[in-house]
Amino acid sequence: MIFGASRAKAVDQLDNFIEQNLTDYSKLRNFDFGPDNRSNISCLSPYITHGIINELEVIEKSLKKFSFAKNEKFIQEVLWRVYWKGWLELRPNVWSDYLNELAKIKDEFKDNQNYLNAIEGKTNIDCFNQWVIELKENNYLHNHTRMWFASIWIFTLKLPWQLGAEFFMQHLYDGDAASNTLGWRWVAGVQTQGKHYLASEWNINKFTNNRFKNIKLNENTSPIFSDKTYSINKKDFLNSEILEGKTLLIFENNMAFEFSDFKEHKFKKALLVSNSNENRFIELSEKVLDFKANLLEDQKTRLEKKLIDCKIININDLKNITEEVYALYPTVGENLDFIKLNDLKNIKFLYRKLDQFSWQYCNKGFFNFKNYIPKIIANFNFL
Ligand SMILES: Cc1cc2nc3c(=O)[nH]c(=O)nc-3n(C[C@H](O)[C@H](O)[C@H](O)COP(=O)(O)OP(=O)(O)OC[C@H]3O[C@@H](n4cnc5c(N)ncnc54)[C@H](O)[C@@H]3O)c2cc1C
Repeated sequence: MIFGASRAKAVDQLDNFIEQNLTDYSKLRNFDFGPDNRSNISCLSPYITHGIINELEVIEKSLKKFSFAKNEKFIQEVLWRVYWKGWLELRPNVWSDYLNELAKIKDEFKDNQNYLNAIEGKTNIDCFNQWVIELKENNYLHNHTRMWFASIWIFTLKLPWQLGAEFFMQHLYDGDAASNTLGWRWVAGVQTQGKHYLASEWNINKFTNNRFKNIKLNENTSPIFSDKTYSINKKDFLNSEILEGKTLLIFENNMAFEFSDFKEHKFKKALLVSNSNENRFIELSEKVLDFKANLLEDQKTRLEKKLIDCKIININDLKNITEEVYALYPTVGENLDFIKLNDLKNIKFLYRKLDQFSWQYCNKGFFNFKNYIPKIIANFNFL
């Protein structure tokens, strides 16, 4: 699977998936047929994570092809991402606690051979070793494989989930603070306390078409224990009314401004913010940084075609800006951490309508959120 770093490539992939493969998605989505056969899933996450295409655009196109009833599973998955985002926005300390725990554990495990074998793909579990190679080479893993991988990491290799989540973030093109951290917490059994996800040999065999041999796993173990609970922070969405003539900031999660809720506003200029490893707590692989850099260039080219004055800046340059500027909200993660750490109060946030409407339903579990999906979609006139 090759991920071209452009909006044109993303739209092409979306259109192809909807035309040719959406019809069998709910039946086939759990199968990992290998990196050369990904037609049963959309592989859109590297693009959606960076806002190259957005969730509503994906849902709208899918509903033009099939009814809601036929599409329900796919739409649920697309909105699962919005749910994880909202869940973390309401409990941002889950992210800061994760980074604090990671700092401590990283130091403890830096010379641990079991850990080093895992990230080098040198364990005695064949499938796991192949997934490590695939992750580093393709910067993508199938959802089911992410679940098996995380489960083996935690319950068979007995490594801390925090280190596994870091390893994914370093190499995934779709690496996202919410989906990744909460995905790992969920497998470990600390997201839904007491309920973990246990990978099993028969399940891996069935959903990989028996591609692997010798899968000896620990299939009988208790969830990771955590008694930490998080109270909900109320979220205020204070969108500014007068944006004309202001400077716009674009972070790496919203790189298709011309399709955003704010596309009609005449900003004075756009500054596209690049974040190198120097200011990241989790250092990303060169390939992931290049992917982001190329997407940023692609956004710049598209904005210039629309005669919008724009420039790519380093995140450090934000410290020199004194005027009030407006940013498409970067969401809980490394970019928002930078803004908070440097106390950049002159940056005001603009929130997507989808997030403003959906995050109110993220206070409980996904099964509760699912009930509101028809309402969310109807709110955007798709039903
Ligand atoms: C341990 C673990 C870590 C993960 N880390 C990330 C991550 O860093 N970034 C990320 O985008 N996703 C993450 N996921 C979720 C999921 O695995 C990927 O979004 C999905 O595999 C992307 O492939 P796709 O685009 O072909 O998905 P499809 O099956 O085609 O689904 C369409 C879209 O729905 C969304 N989606 C699907 N499944 C999920 C899910 N379980 N959670 C949230 N959104 C979902 C994605 O935006 C995806 O592009 C993680 C899951 C696990 C179990």
